[in-house]
Amino acid sequence: MLGLMQDQPLLISNLIDFAERHHADGEIVSRRVEGDLHRYTWADVAKRSRQVAHALDGLKLEFSDRVATLAWNGYRHLELYFGVSGTGRVLHTLNPRLHPDQVVWIANHAEDKVLCFDMTFLPIIQAVHARCPMIQTYVALCDADKLPADSGIPNLVSYEAWIAGKSSDYAWPQFDENSASSMCYTSGTTGNPKAALYSHRSTVLHAYAAALPDVMCISARDSILPVVPMFHVNAWGIPYSAALTGAKLVFPGPAMDGKSVYELMETERVTYSAGVPTVWQMMLAHMKANNLKFSTMRRTVIGGSACPPAMIRAFNDDYGVEVLHAWGMTEMSPLGTLCTLKNKQLVLPADAQMQIRLKQGRAIFGVDMKVVDEAGAELPWDGKSSGDLLVKGPWVIAEYFKGEGGNPLINGWFPTGDVATIDADGFLQITDRSKDVIKSGGEWISSIEIENIAMAHPAVMMAACVGMPHPKWDERPIIAVVKRPGAQVTREELLQFFEGKTAKWQIPDDVVFVDAIPLGATGKMQKMKLREQLKDYKLPS
Ligand code: AMP
Repeated sequence: MLGLMQDQPLLISNLIDFAERHHADGEIVSRRVEGDLHRYTWADVAKRSRQVAHALDGLKLEFSDRVATLAWNGYRHLELYFGVSGTGRVLHTLNPRLHPDQVVWIANHAEDKVLCFDMTFLPIIQAVHARCPMIQTYVALCDADKLPADSGIPNLVSYEAWIAGKSSDYAWPQFDENSASSMCYTSGTTGNPKAALYSHRSTVLHAYAAALPDVMCISARDSILPVVPMFHVNAWGIPYSAALTGAKLVFPGPAMDGKSVYELMETERVTYSAGVPTVWQMMLAHMKANNLKFSTMRRTVIGGSACPPAMIRAFNDDYGVEVLHAWGMTEMSPLGTLCTLKNKQLVLPADAQMQIRLKQGRAIFGVDMKVVDEAGAELPWDGKSSGDLLVKGPWVIAEYFKGEGGNPLINGWFPTGDVATIDADGFLQITDRSKDVIKSGGEWISSIEIENIAMAHPAVMMAACVGMPHPKWDERPIIAVVKRPGAQVTREELLQFFEGKTAKWQIPDDVVFVDAIPLGATGKMQKMKLREQLKDYKLPS
């Protein structure tokens, strides 16, 4: 017997319809490429995304055709989120930090038909358009009078001219909720990039789950500034969850430096934010140097790579901001776990609570996870047994776009490539990326643990731990360190700092001071590049 409930597909267009009906005057504030602040409402987003829908129909695109963006976090990008997917086309968010050759490869692989870009990225478009024969139309996200006369780009139109005069009435089509809605290529460090192809169903379910109190806890009372870019896994789904809840959105546009983001947070009474650790590093440095405090900021999600305990403590103790440590992947839309305490843990002493909050957190309903040994046998949830982390659920990929790389699943589970433990309360702790684990004398050393200790030293701005070949131990860890501006610390002082904080044999053999640690297109440390840079390095004998 089937249930007797209405059969309505879960579609992204429902989210924007809802925001318009129930949060019409909810604000969306954007720092524009032009430098000014743009301010309008959810009702305006809805109206203009329907104009986008007409403009796309005018290009005679087919259902599921890809429409790419190369854009900052901003209101026009938001309109494309709803306008493109709402019509059944696939929003392909390109990462502007990639090398132009990679942009060409990805745009051709995705078979993008339209590319919408912020004017900041005009030089990239000029460098790639001749090699992207499938792109029929380029849309510059600007007013008509900002369009350069001699760009050399064929079929270039300004966004405002493109949607101007289009009707704001549009009946969103109804279709199978499993239809593709958007796609994002992984920041894979080896081989060609592969794309996660999200569906309307996976996106709407993820939007529901992300808003839950024990997850991102997003509500109509929040003013959210996503620092995480809309070109990286849909800004962790925040635009969708914001529409679902009616939260205010504040977009920093191209001004991503600590000072600009801080000022926007203050003027727009931001309560909530999200981003990778490296961006918060800049923000905290700016705030410390200028003796600043937050007036309204209360919570921030930090994920994408391990959040150093020193950062969680600084936010908490110095600024009264709760850090929600999160773990996820492009292949998981991206949320997998989020760290919030359980009722029974609230009575624990502050230190014990902090120990829990340093972990990557508990699985969200919708994500099932397990750790397995080399033979694939499930390991106990004891907080000690470390193994390969596998996940499954309705917003985890079943395969990559175009079947690239074959079937990625192992008996229905997606192997994350991360090594982790899970404790008896279900809290996940990521030890490493499997390819970054350091093996010394047959034992594993967690590079994340070593980095976390180094980052707690006041003179250390950033630290990356990598294994170096060793004749006796196979590999030994060394730590590459970027010092805070003006700070002084010696190799010996830093090595001494590890004493008593980890087992003696896990203490790095050496400290290498560097000017910068290579960061990838999504702000994560690129250890492969670092290893390349250190290829002539010799361990001290
Ligand atoms: P991406 O798909 O580019 O977002 O990268 C996903 C990978 O980032 C994961 O498989 C992890 O290796 C890493 N990652 C994400 N969040 C965390 C976290 N909180 N702690 C440690 N690693 C993380």
